[in-house]
Amino acid sequence: MRAIAIDGPAGAGKSTIAKRVSAKLGYIYVDTGALYRSVGLAAITRGVQLSDISAILQYLSEIRINIRYVDEVQHVFVNDEDVTDRIRTQEVAAYASKVSALPEVRQFLFDLQQQLARENNVVMDGRDIGTVVLPNADVKIFLTASVKERAKRRYKELCEKGVEADLAVIEQEISTRDALDMNRDIAPLKQAEDAVLVDTSDLNLEESVAAIMKIVAGKLD
Ligand code: C5P
Repeated sequence: MRAIAIDGPAGAGKSTIAKRVSAKLGYIYVDTGALYRSVGLAAITRGVQLSDISAILQYLSEIRINIRYVDEVQHVFVNDEDVTDRIRTQEVAAYASKVSALPEVRQFLFDLQQQLARENNVVMDGRDIGTVVLPNADVKIFLTASVKERAKRRYKELCEKGVEADLAVIEQEISTRDALDMNRDIAPLKQAEDAVLVDTSDLNLEESVAAIMKIVAGKLD
């Protein structure tokens, strides 16, 4: 099986670009952030305090997370409930960042991610795919963009959806999430030594996809 790992900070365009790349290659796209978001949502729904490790272990033993593909789009299920839309809020993102710092949560999702890569050709995006989950991935990309540019993109996305948004607040949220993801003890966000750095600050979507396809073609040949 072939694996392409795309890591990077929030809002760098990973999911949009990874989806395009997977479609071009005929691989499945695995959005691992959605898995952490699902665990975050479950914590919110159950009112679990993040400081209460035993409560977290308890609910991890009670939830089953699955991925299914509907019309080639990844849907995430928690105990058979489709949570694909509910996990896209800022509140869930912030909770996901917090639960993702817990080793128990990372271990819980590690096996699922590895299994998906064992059974399918994947383009998998996240924070620690090239460093921890798939250290032997055929291609590793570290995708980034400046905080300002990432905030602008998210702002535009929200405006297009008709959601009221504040650019300064979004910039602050992105910086906070970057800091949490980069400074945690376990599986922090960092570029794998053998990953290729792609900065999309000055690239549009097509240019970003083309840059990655070129790297992929060079590595898979
Ligand atoms: O990519 P997304 O913004 O959906 O990820 C939500 C959160 O899940 C991130 O801020 C990060 O804390 C966590 N995450 C992670 N490892 C991954 C993917 C996401 O820790 N592989």
